[in-house]
Amino acid sequence: MAPPLSGDSLVQKLTVEKQVRRDVTLLTLSGTIDCDFDGKKLAAVIRTSRLAIHLAGVRLITSFGIREWIDFMTAAARRAEDILLLDCSPKIIQQANMVANFVGSGRIVSFYAPYRCATCGTDSRVHMHLRRDWDVVIRRVPPDRVCVNCGQNETFDDDPDTYFAYMCSQGPVALDSELAIHFKRPPRGLRVAKTVQGRSTYLRLGGVLDAFFPCDKLIDGLEGMVLVDLDLLQRVDEAGAAAWRRFLSTIAPTVEAVYLFGVPPELTEELACWDSPGARPQLATMALTYLCPRCAIVTRRTIDFVRHYDELTRGMLPTKQCSDCWGTVYPTIPDEFVAHLASIPRPDVPPRVSKFFRTLAGNEPSSLPAGAHLATRGNACSTGRAMALLAAALLAVALLALFGYHYLPSSNLGGSLGQAGASDTSARQGGQQAGK
Ligand SMILES: [Zn+2]
Ligand SMILES: [Zn+2]
Repeated sequence: MAPPLSGDSLVQKLTVEKQVRRDVTLLTLSGTIDCDFDGKKLAAVIRTSRLAIHLAGVRLITSFGIREWIDFMTAAARRAEDILLLDCSPKIIQQANMVANFVGSGRIVSFYAPYRCATCGTDSRVHMHLRRDWDVVIRRVPPDRVCVNCGQNETFDDDPDTYFAYMCSQGPVALDSELAIHFKRPPRGLRVAKTVQGRSTYLRLGGVLDAFFPCDKLIDGLEGMVLVDLDLLQRVDEAGAAAWRRFLSTIAPTVEAVYLFGVPPELTEELACWDSPGARPQLATMALTYLCPRCAIVTRRTIDFVRHYDELTRGMLPTKQCSDCWGTVYPTIPDEFVAHLASIPRPDVPPRVSKFFRTLAGNEPSSLPAGAHLATRGNACSTGRAMALLAAALLAVALLALFGYHYLPSSNLGGSLGQAGASDTSARQGGQQAGK
């Protein structure tokens, strides 16, 4: 057991999250790449023939960081045949243009274009795919944009000739179908897969839980036992949390029982101060992010709330073992959420419910190859069908986006961790502005 590390202390430091899916390792780097980044050490965790590096959250690279990065790319090229750089932040693109060998044998697949509104000072960035937006890249003419904040015209916040130079020389890269399945960005917003089996309903939520949470649609006709799986949620904002509270309190009087799985710490508050009539939602498992101090890698783990109830409610979070160095990894959860846990009554989750959940959800998210998997289980309802197709993309990418959601203030994140074609308003960044 260990005291939680403060999430805030990690905001500027580099954090690295690792996922492995079949023959692809996905590393998500976020924060500042500086002399503390041990490139060779990180490359040593690559044990697949393909490597995808998600770089939307990289805000600054120092001179020593560049040296370590090149070491990393060189060592990685000896371990993986194919290296793809996804969603490169402007800092990455700028270095690729300036530093020979920065991209090495890797290939840039997608990136962000920086914009600035001179009227209100808002910085934003637009997600682009080299292949889809090749016309923009090759002509080096960024599209006009209007500021979402004040409606005035924005300007491209770099020299287009320079910004697109490296990418012009590299050429477009198509994600092959396998990678596309694993790492395609989800459409923005919430995606829901619904499965009805007998008197039970299984709802799997992925993507972004925000004001557009289709609360009424989901509530409609819900009865019997309800299992809600939040394991694929990428991000929750305040409006989303409020809609979620409304959802729980509205269904409580009409359903037999509600069991919650993969709940992020941000959604535990209402369970701590539950005062609605009807079925109190039972917290079965939580989704926590863990940091390995030795590898400096973040992974996401599911914690059995029932089994660890006594420790969790005393503010003690279970430690886990790192799959790379076998050292201890520590949960990173802000203090205010730890405090909520102490007030949650001991949940009653019968073993048959947990077993039923495992049958529905698969033993682990990575074992689910596609959203269609969800739709064909049991008697998938009609709304679930279309949603489940979209879940295909989510299955693969939800975890990586969560990384940013836990460690960066949401205003910094915006669409930086996904949401194809979306722009990311990144003004008002406080300390992170150092990277600009
Ligand atoms: Zn503006
Ligand atoms: Zn480790």
